[in-house]
Amino acid sequence: MKYSKCLILFSTFLFLFFFSFSLQAHAEIYEVEVDWLNMRSEPTTTASIVGRLSHGNKVSIFQKRNGWVQTYYNGEKVWVAARHLAPAHEEKVFLAEGLLSGYTIVIDPGHGGKDPGAIGHNGVLEKNLILETSLKIAKALEDNGAKVILTRADDSFVTLSDRVFISNQNSTDAFISIHFNAFDADYVGGINTYYHMNGKRLANEIQMALSKEVPLKNRGVIQHDYRVLRDNKYPAVLLELGFITNTAELATLQTDDYKDKVARAISIALISYFWNQR
Ligand SMILES: [Zn+2]
Repeated sequence: MKYSKCLILFSTFLFLFFFSFSLQAHAEIYEVEVDWLNMRSEPTTTASIVGRLSHGNKVSIFQKRNGWVQTYYNGEKVWVAARHLAPAHEEKVFLAEGLLSGYTIVIDPGHGGKDPGAIGHNGVLEKNLILETSLKIAKALEDNGAKVILTRADDSFVTLSDRVFISNQNSTDAFISIHFNAFDADYVGGINTYYHMNGKRLANEIQMALSKEVPLKNRGVIQHDYRVLRDNKYPAVLLELGFITNTAELATLQTDDYKDKVARAISIALISYFWNQR
């Protein structure tokens, strides 16, 4: 099996700690109201300072104690004084650092090597756009503390069975296969998410987050027995992130802004998915 094609990327603070914390509920989001605010190791002014927040920063609060609230910073529990915070009302969820720590995500960039996937407008190859987007997704997940395994990190050909093998050989918390769609007619566009059996809730979370973050048509969640889903022991989904045969849509898909939004949506969806798992 092609272990060499399986690039395993550890985030730095994965080593620091915690595989075990379980979050019992959604965190509340608060905003810093003062110019700056110390983060401390314990809920007291005599505890050591481990970092500093500034005005407008948003933090996710997990518990409150004697006028202090607890959040996470670089994967560690930290405390800040509650009186300098106010509830945030913004739609956008701030991703507190380390919320995916302890989770293993397999990102599966579809096609590659001798298999170009679909061929889009202007001869754009699906496999290339997939790789660029997948690397952005992997980076975003690592930034949130996840251990990310890519089934390919370059233009290699990887068989479907090897992709499944990589997922099944690890303690995979979520397997996400990345694709772009194609159709004969230029006007067809939009995004959708496939699952087979065990990925339904994950598919719903990702499709919902994508539909909020990206400007493309929401084509919904669909059950399908793609091999990378069907033979996967773990929650698995396959994303079709837009049509490369749609001229206007392709221009969007090729922007860094679009790839960043996709990466953010998947991060938000995974955090929500794991938190609600109890
Ligand atoms: Zn494809």
